[in-house]
Amino acid sequence: MMAKFWGKSGNIKEEILKDFPIFKRKINGKRLIYLDSTATSQKPIQVLDVIYDFYSKVNSNVHRGIYRLSEEATEAYEKSREKVRKFINAASIREVVFTKGATESLNMVAMSWGLQNIKKDDNIVLTIMEHHSNMLPWRRVARLKKAKVYYIPITSDGFLDLSYLDKIKDAQVLAVTHVSNVLGTINPIRELAKWIHEKGGIIVVDGAQSTPHMPVDIKQLNVDFFAFSGHKMLGPTGIGVLYGREKILEETEPFLLGGEMIKKVSMNDEEWSDLPWKFEAGTPNFVGAVALGMAIDYLKSLGMFWVRKHEKKLTKYAIELLSKIPSIKIYGPLDVNYRGGVVSFTMNNVHPHDIATLLDEDGIAIRSGHHCAQPLHEYLGVAATARASFYIYNWEEDIEALYSSLLKIHKMFNE
Ligand code: PMP
Repeated sequence: MMAKFWGKSGNIKEEILKDFPIFKRKINGKRLIYLDSTATSQKPIQVLDVIYDFYSKVNSNVHRGIYRLSEEATEAYEKSREKVRKFINAASIREVVFTKGATESLNMVAMSWGLQNIKKDDNIVLTIMEHHSNMLPWRRVARLKKAKVYYIPITSDGFLDLSYLDKIKDAQVLAVTHVSNVLGTINPIRELAKWIHEKGGIIVVDGAQSTPHMPVDIKQLNVDFFAFSGHKMLGPTGIGVLYGREKILEETEPFLLGGEMIKKVSMNDEEWSDLPWKFEAGTPNFVGAVALGMAIDYLKSLGMFWVRKHEKKLTKYAIELLSKIPSIKIYGPLDVNYRGGVVSFTMNNVHPHDIATLLDEDGIAIRSGHHCAQPLHEYLGVAATARASFYIYNWEEDIEALYSSLLKIHKMFNE
């Protein structure tokens, strides 16, 4: 089944919702209102069909067999790579590595490029708003190599405090998220890339929360590494991408070793495969990659500008409604021009887990906890936050349902 062109019926909302079988489910007898796409997105039938079709009709390992099925599987796998390349506007498919997800991509950069290049007393710059996946690997590199770690702090309205950079004279790596999964802040990646490049260092960008939600142009951002996950952008779990600048990938030893993605191994020597396969040792998740290709087709058929515009509208509405509840504090920038579709908040006298449990009774799924950004929560002075996040299948009535349930909770604990 192919992704389609929208608006045929004149009702884009119904057309989208019809594609997502999960929305037929009832939770506690209520319509499912899914507001946790930052954790993982729901999947359209087109993506689910590709998975079934591939296993039913083509299944065989890629880049190994010379028989018909294996050739077809390899062709489909590589076609998906080209779709990813185009989607993020990378210069070449040599720069697009399939991984298990953003966490694996980011760990691969630290454990390959990082261990190969970072030396004693080098400076690694992180930000306080990083997800653990773009923080802990670099802390390990720093420990092993006796390098130093710096954290760019945030301002009271949730932006990176770039004045901090003036204090850092020399740096080899800047690892930063494109969009914060807690604050929603959209960081000025191009500007940060310029800063680190002037120092001769590289920039590693966590694109887990930007790629699914807005147009991403690698050439325009001018980054060295960029990571994201398929499951947050309508694709299946277990597939992700690591973009790497070709010249840097060429000079970097792979982290995963073994399997077929190698040219020649003798008793004492080995010759890596060409890019990007040199970084894909072991049987890759080729079915996941092909399904991710369909997820990209689906998003492209809507248009990433539409996706961003849609989420901006919902986020603005959510901030507007939630601000009316006096016991609620919203974190991150309030101007949606600088914020993705995620709204983290706390409510006086109620733990975020209790908020999430009470919302669940109304069929509303939100996340509560530290969202794998514990240092950020420590910095904000809270143990946990509640987080509502939006995607293409959410509409104004979902925000209104969230608001009226939260108002009920507010009245229970604060009046
Ligand atoms: N970075 C950010 C900003 C994220 O939101 C997430 C997922 N919560 C990750 C990295 C890790 O992604 P994954 O679990 O798919 O590896």
